[in-house]
Amino acid sequence: MKRVSSLMVLLGSVMLGGCAADGSFDASKAMVVGAGVVQAVTLDENSVKQTASLAAVELDSKYRVADASNPYSRRLANLVSGVQGYDGLKLNFKVYLENEVNAFAMADGTVRVFSGLMDAMPDDQVLAVIGHEIGHVKLKHSYRQMQSKLLTDSVFAGVVSTGGIIGELTAGQLGQLGQAAVSAQFSQKDELESDEYAVKMLRKVGQDPYAMKRAIETLQAKYGSGGGFLSSHPSNPKRVKNIEAAIAGKK
Ligand SMILES: [Zn+2]
Repeated sequence: MKRVSSLMVLLGSVMLGGCAADGSFDASKAMVVGAGVVQAVTLDENSVKQTASLAAVELDSKYRVADASNPYSRRLANLVSGVQGYDGLKLNFKVYLENEVNAFAMADGTVRVFSGLMDAMPDDQVLAVIGHEIGHVKLKHSYRQMQSKLLTDSVFAGVVSTGGIIGELTAGQLGQLGQAAVSAQFSQKDELESDEYAVKMLRKVGQDPYAMKRAIETLQAKYGSGGGFLSSHPSNPKRVKNIEAAIAGKK
């Protein structure tokens, strides 16, 4: 007990999830979550996916979602008709009526495309961006990002229990998780991998893989390297070079 107390002091504001039902403290179940200090808890993929679905519902209630008859929705439905169940994934697509040039995905297969991005580029390039987002899902980047946020962000301290069970989240917490996905920052490696994934996807569905390269160039020309979809770490020339290598089969 003493050891546990001093551990608590050492770790400051972190939360402990080891309280037994009768109110006594069960040190064997004590697990430190949060503050990025100790990460003995892992969250399984299904729990994170379920949480992502709830976060998506929260986001959909905040953004202006284009209804099915909206021209943007029709265009998107047409674009993704060949990739609905791509690579064994359960994907769901919607358009947010926002001028921002952005798109994002979540671990459960939620993919959202902003109308600003659809205004900025032709169909094949929008599909390339969608392929990139699907890459983040399939390659588990989105899962790992949400997992890490749940385990390390103090906002979620105490939400994750010892067994890796995610407790009930408030609408505010779900909104924060969703917003983190909207403005997700992935590592260079993840971004480059997702570009490569998009190249392969385009090829598999009979589209021109160079559309991925053109999408980057379009955004670079119109918006420079900052913000939205291009707010990633790898420079655009680096991404383009990597995409070219992927198309040439060197990746
Ligand atoms: Zn990305």
